[in-house]
Amino acid sequence: MTVDVLHARRPLAQSTARRDAAHFIDGAFTQGTSGKTWQNTCPVDGSLIGSVPEGGPAEIDAAVAAAWAALDGPWGRMTVNERTALLGAVADEINRRFDEFLEAECLDTGKPMSLASHIDIPRGAANFKMFTDVAKTVATECFTMPTPDGNGALNYALRRPRGVIAVISPWNLPLLLMTWKVGPALALGNTVVVKPSEQTPLTATLLGEVMNTVGVPRGVYNVVHGFGPNSAGALLTQHPGINGITFTGSTASGEAIMRQAAHGIRPVSAELGGKNPALVFADADLDRAIEGTMRSVFSNCGQVCLGTERVYVERPVFAEFVARLKQGAESLRLGRPEDPATGLGPLVSEQHRRKVLSYYARAVEQGATVVTGGGVPEMPADLAGGAWIEPTIWTGAADDAAIVTEEIFGPCCHIRPFDSEEEAIRLANATRYGLAASVWTENLSRAHRVAARMEVGICWVNSWFLRDLRTAFGGAKASGIGREGGVHSLEFYTEITNVCVKL
Ligand code: NAD
Repeated sequence: MTVDVLHARRPLAQSTARRDAAHFIDGAFTQGTSGKTWQNTCPVDGSLIGSVPEGGPAEIDAAVAAAWAALDGPWGRMTVNERTALLGAVADEINRRFDEFLEAECLDTGKPMSLASHIDIPRGAANFKMFTDVAKTVATECFTMPTPDGNGALNYALRRPRGVIAVISPWNLPLLLMTWKVGPALALGNTVVVKPSEQTPLTATLLGEVMNTVGVPRGVYNVVHGFGPNSAGALLTQHPGINGITFTGSTASGEAIMRQAAHGIRPVSAELGGKNPALVFADADLDRAIEGTMRSVFSNCGQVCLGTERVYVERPVFAEFVARLKQGAESLRLGRPEDPATGLGPLVSEQHRRKVLSYYARAVEQGATVVTGGGVPEMPADLAGGAWIEPTIWTGAADDAAIVTEEIFGPCCHIRPFDSEEEAIRLANATRYGLAASVWTENLSRAHRVAARMEVGICWVNSWFLRDLRTAFGGAKASGIGREGGVHSLEFYTEITNVCVKL
């Protein structure tokens, strides 16, 4: 798959007729019975993609019942080898239908195909393979204990699937973040009901076709579309038939979901928002720091939970860093997803653009200096209806300004100088969030010293978004609860029974 091949094809927005989404319940596609739908539009040009049915109580009940039937039936009876072989086939089938997934993801999100073809779709497939190894090789503990009669007792742990898992996923990396949960949930023997983001319904729907093609039993993977509050999301997370909720999205929604999960005492795994810092020391390899920060600020139009929105640069290299990042931002080419020269797509929606632009306005009101950007770009007529926005850099804002403390989720960052390692650490940690940090330095001792003091779930040194899927992924503080990835996913997707045998 090369971008050139894609470019040779028809423009995305004209590539298909209408694409209506459907729920996928008990192995079948359905529009449901609520009678409610909404229009899914493409953020590249505002064109209509198709309609999406909004699930209500009937669809949620049916999906949860199907998930239970599969758990009590064929899926629950499968050996781990049979189950993981099917998930391997799911990964292969996603790769075989790579172009369709790519096109669907780019229609929904507007992101460049060059990005989605390297990140979203291959990782979406890999998430099904990765956890099959974990499921097949996981060991459990065993303790012998002395007893007064001298015969002792043996304790061993059994891991069981948790049951029916509700998966609530966001729009920024729709397939990747949804399968990051569905992959381990299924590999470890659970069944799922997915509520994808209302902004990006297509790839979750397409995955239903894949499940049927490779022979995953009906009811194992279910999708119900809808919104969050007072809609399918809230109905699903409150449903008494759900045993656990895994959620990726904003911190505010995470708080609401935790309240919903309290009813019935259901565990929640939450991957939430961030306000991630990058620390650039004067001893850094500046070329690498600029290249990495360009990606961490502007990739996916800044809509990456791990993305950098606060950059702290040691004073001797501050001016050079600002000038070079400005030059990088100004050279980003805005364009259609299928154009290989596109470096920056639109934001996901007009609604999200209004939110990001409100921060652009507040930055100025609160006295920040706009180094570059700060507004809406002029686009050619065929793209004028899209959610385009300028990549933006600020300096000079106070440490308590909104653009320094609140997650914006757009292609923007604030850059501030610092004078000592201690000050840089204090500034980086001065946030309620704790998702990720990047430290740029060629000093080995400093790299380890500073990384150990970052109050985050993930700290990169001289890199960004370099992910080994076996490692723990998640956030500290208001950025989340729990870790997923590798063996860490066992904590949420399985339940342990300790068996104590008196000998
Ligand atoms: P969001 O919280 O608005 O929505 C996420 C999902 O939750 C959607 O499917 C939505 O319909 C659903 N939802 C919202 N309220 C709900 C409720 N009360 N009950 C049930 N479901 C509900 O987030 P978003 O705008 O889609 O995504 C952007 C946010 O996600 C950002 O804050 C970003 O940082 C965060 N995010 C975090 C990670 C991570 O791994 N930590 C990854 C990606 C995105």
